Formats: sequence, C-alpha cells, structure tokens
Amino acid sequence: MTQPTTETLIANTNLSTDQINQARTIIRNLQADLKTCMTKGTGPFLAAIYDADGNLIAQAPNTVVRDQCSHRHAEMNAIQLAQQILGTYDLSPYNLSLYCTSEPCLMCLGGILWSGIKAVYYGVPSDRVEAITGFDEGFKPNWQSEFKKRGITVCGGLAQTVGEAVLTDYMTARHPVYRPDR
Ligand SMILES: [Zn+2]
Repeated sequence: MTQPTTETLIANTNLSTDQINQARTIIRNLQADLKTCMTKGTGPFLAAIYDADGNLIAQAPNTVVRDQCSHRHAEMNAIQLAQQILGTYDLSPYNLSLYCTSEPCLMCLGGILWSGIKAVYYGVPSDRVEAITGFDEGFKPNWQSEFKKRGITVCGGLAQTVGEAVLTDYMTARHPVYRPDR
C-alpha cells in the first residue's frame, strides 16, 4: 500500500475560507457515516446533496454489489434520490451542491453534468483511490476546467487524510473491489 498524503486542495474557482471549512466538515462527517455504511455491505463511497442554506436533501452510499448494478455509485444514487424528492430531472433551479467522499469517476461526472448540480466538493482524489483500492476511476482529462466552463464549482482534496484511512480500512477488511474483467 502507498503512504497516506496530506490535504492538497484543488479548486476551479476562488472559495472563501468559510466555504472551504464548511465543505470540509460535511465531507469529514460523510467519512464517519461511510464507516457505518460499509459495515452494512455498501461500497466505500458516500455522497450527499445540500441546498445553499445547508439543508440536507439526499444522501446515499455506493450500492453496486447490493443492487447488482454497475451504475449504482454514491453520486448517481444521491442525484436520483434528490430528483425523486424534488420531483424533477433538472436540479439547476435549486442551487444544490454535491459532496462526495472521493473524487467522482468518469461515469458520475456525466451524471453530475446532466443533473443540474451547481457545485461538487470531494475528498480523496482519483489517483489516490486507484492507488489504495485498485478501483478504475476512468479517464477524465481536464474535468475541473470543463465543469468551470459550465458554471459548476469544483473543490477537491477535502479531509483527504481521513478519507484515505477509510478506503484503507475497506481494503484491510477484504471487502470487494468490483470491476469488469479486462
Ligand atoms: Zn462514480
């Protein structure tokens, strides 16, 4: 296994210290919730959607194995739940932010773009997820600046050390790393 890293923030726009601290607190709480989820058989990823006033709209873990469905990532589950709750396929009027314990994968970046989510905050960057777990996060050239062009704020690396420890726990417990054979 690789050495844990310290937090190095990546952002595609200027955020205030308060905004960053608030996002880090939410991600850190998600990492704590994720430990509980993993004991119930979920994958090692959790996502939540909040409105601009800090109200939780939806929260969901990765359920690929439980649901036997390859697109049941935490981000996709949380977006689906928020859209069901609000009764719309277009979340853009609600000014919602998505918080993820790890950087969204290739598939989830597409799901986020089509959902109307306005900001994405994440914990562990994909290169660290891949190094620790062996999951394939996909190819995502320049995605933070592509999101910026579309008016979507991105900030990553929040509570990264805590997140890496949770992923390491998942591997130590020999939980499944699900992926297609290649
Ligand atoms: Zn994903």
